[in-house]
Amino acid sequence: LRGLLVGRFQPFHRGHLRVISDLVAQRGPHALLIGIGSAQESFTDENPFTAGERAEMIERALAEVGIRAVQTVPIPDIHQHAQWVAYLVALVPPFDVVHTNNPLTRLLFERARFTVESPPLFDRGRYQGAEIRRRIRVGEPWDELVPPAVSHYLAEIGGVERIQTIANREARAPSSTVR
Ligand code: NAD
Repeated sequence: LRGLLVGRFQPFHRGHLRVISDLVAQRGPHALLIGIGSAQESFTDENPFTAGERAEMIERALAEVGIRAVQTVPIPDIHQHAQWVAYLVALVPPFDVVHTNNPLTRLLFERARFTVESPPLFDRGRYQGAEIRRRIRVGEPWDELVPPAVSHYLAEIGGVERIQTIANREARAPSSTVR
């Protein structure tokens, strides 16, 4: 059986890595697909990194722990939630099981009669994209929350400066302004 893990990975953190390592240990690398959700989004507070950058983070972090050949697939959002599963099925190779803790994602896949499993959450207070982005914004230590490969990659692409610049711009600009 092939599993699909859907996430935004903004950024890819140690919680994501733990789930993937466990699933690969159980099923092997070819039995898991990673869907990169909200693929059209980047350079915003919630979604600072492009789908391509997120794919790169995932590949490097997995390579660092000796996991290769896990396929990643970008999945842009669509406006109609009711159509999302059918749309996603057309984008990714066949899969049987969905791994998610996102309630909406679970609901939509269950409605389409997929088996949905919730992998255990590891220290969710800390290993959470929103918490990592918050720490980066305010200048608190964050790199222990991501795999070393991700922290190196963010240094390479100026990820910290990007998150801080976006935050300053969003704080200054009135919400009605086109920017
Ligand atoms: P996320 O990166 O926050 O999390 C992805 C998954 O990683 C979680 O479900 C969870 O299982 C796992 N995870 C996260 N933190 C963990 C931790 N500490 N320990 C263990 N596991 C952990 O991503 P998300 O927000 O759930 O992504 C869902 C994506 O699906 C989004 O991009 C969303 O836009 C998309 N979506 C789109 C539509 C649509 O377009 N209509 C509908 C539903 C969902």
